Amino acid sequence: MYHSQLTDAIFYNSLLALDRLIAEQIKHSRCLFCHGNLHQSHYPRKPRGVPEGTHSDYPIRFSYCCATDGCRKRFTPPSMRFLSRKVYSSVIIFLVFLLKSKTDELKVEELNLLLGTSLSVETVRRWRNFWVKQVSQSHTWKRAAFSHGMAQTLPASLLDQFQLAVNTSLKLALKWLLPLTAGVHLFDVPFRLVTTG
Ligand SMILES: [Zn+2]
Repeated sequence: MYHSQLTDAIFYNSLLALDRLIAEQIKHSRCLFCHGNLHQSHYPRKPRGVPEGTHSDYPIRFSYCCATDGCRKRFTPPSMRFLSRKVYSSVIIFLVFLLKSKTDELKVEELNLLLGTSLSVETVRRWRNFWVKQVSQSHTWKRAAFSHGMAQTLPASLLDQFQLAVNTSLKLALKWLLPLTAGVHLFDVPFRLVTTG
């Protein structure tokens, strides 16, 4: 289970499409510091573990810079694909913890075999720390007022909130997580993606 989501280029491409919508929303806002216009300033990333067949734009991190001289603050929008600076895809950082393999070593082995990656156990442990310690300390988490026990079993407990088909639940969970994926000036700030998808 979850192997199909991890290797489904169409699913990954749907995340890219949502990121374009998110970027549009940020593009039409103004600098939080000086109220200046924002200019496009996208940059390439090298996401790991992304399946073949994903769109050639998948590695592009949409981003904007304030156009005002002397300000030039960068606003990197929330993302369905990238969890802040982590190099692996958000899908992997989420689903590795839901694989059936019992130990971290076996999860890593299963994932590396499936995706041809060279993920290490240490990285997975850092990700667990991100889920259990950082997510649960965020304003985004506190605003949601989930039960206390849920933090210990993140990210599975977040996915369980939605009780829908895996693709749909995962997308809703990633949408929920959006405020924790942005660049520094928008990090942990409420964000609502306006879309019907
Ligand atoms: Zn500015």
